[in-house]
Amino acid sequence: MQARFRTAVLPGDGIGVEVMSAALRVLRRLEQDIAGLAFIFEEHSAGANEFLRSGDPLPESVFEACRSVDAVLLGAMGLPDVRWPDGRELTPQIDLRERLDLYCGLRPIRLYSPAHSPLKQPAAGEIDLVIVRESTEGLFSGRLLTSNPDSGTVEDRLRITRRGSERLFRRAFELARTRRRKVTLVDKANVLPSMVFFRTVFDDVARDYPDVATERTYVDAAALFLVQRPQTFDVIVTENMFGDILSDLAAGLVGGMGMAPSADLGDECGVFQPAHGTAPDIAGQGIANPVGMILSAALMLDWLGTPPAVEGGRRIRRGVEAALADPTTATRDLGGTLSTSEMTERILTAVGLAG
Ligand code: ATP
Repeated sequence: MQARFRTAVLPGDGIGVEVMSAALRVLRRLEQDIAGLAFIFEEHSAGANEFLRSGDPLPESVFEACRSVDAVLLGAMGLPDVRWPDGRELTPQIDLRERLDLYCGLRPIRLYSPAHSPLKQPAAGEIDLVIVRESTEGLFSGRLLTSNPDSGTVEDRLRITRRGSERLFRRAFELARTRRRKVTLVDKANVLPSMVFFRTVFDDVARDYPDVATERTYVDAAALFLVQRPQTFDVIVTENMFGDILSDLAAGLVGGMGMAPSADLGDECGVFQPAHGTAPDIAGQGIANPVGMILSAALMLDWLGTPPAVEGGRRIRRGVEAALADPTTATRDLGGTLSTSEMTERILTAVGLAG
């Protein structure tokens, strides 16, 4: 009898709640189908609605629970009108990332159907890359510093450390070894001293991976190349803010935010959530695309790493691929008419057949 994975479930706000329920349906289905795969789901309240209730978007008890479980599944958090008194948005998902030292943000981008892409000729599977985003320093590192706008000047800070960069690059190279063995560093080393340092550390780490091809690209050119020739990228590794921006751009190449999963990984903990936010414009209507959340659950299974979990991750991906091969399997963001729950049904059927 296999141990059960303790999973903290944080649905959050807006469509986070809707897509979480879809992912839990898929995981429960896999529990039935795969011997030795079992979960204990522990649901917690965090986010903007929790802030309205208790005054704290990430109560200490929830943080402690996230630290103690095997993995955290997160929907999405924050609402545009719910803010701190100084006007900043609540970002408990970023607080969680920083406090758990989840330095490695994985953003896989894969095209499941040519119909999802605004580009002209890509075939399914032809766009298949992973953005590895540094997630604890970079241009986000000064986000909690206070400044006085009355002085007429406000500055942000871009922090790069050797330790933070080295561990990130090692993850990127290890990942590339499981894929097409190519890593592209995205930086701005032609302008910013922090980025010159970032590139130096990259070059040092690259020497330990002679079997992996490397290239170095400035972030502005990377944005252009992602649109012109996305199929040439395998693993992209980059600074926090650059990764934030490029992963939305890359999601746009494969159908939009609803199609993009993510994993935030440290050495001990992992948080798995879709790349999208709470989408207040469509929340409550039952039309959110659940694919990004369901694929995030697959990333969680990969990371849990036991043979039954890895098998579960494989079945989810095969199921999503098979379901999306039918052009009528599409929510509105993909040009279709299916509701969240109808889309989930199609994926559940395909996941069942993927056994
Ligand atoms: P954040 O700042 O938290 O990233 P945001 O408001 O910038 O949030 P999203 O909430 O991701 O961005 O929404 C961006 C757009 O993508 C919105 O038009 C939203 O409706 C759409 N969108 C996001 N997620 C989905 C989804 N799962 N299904 C369909 N549309 C989505």
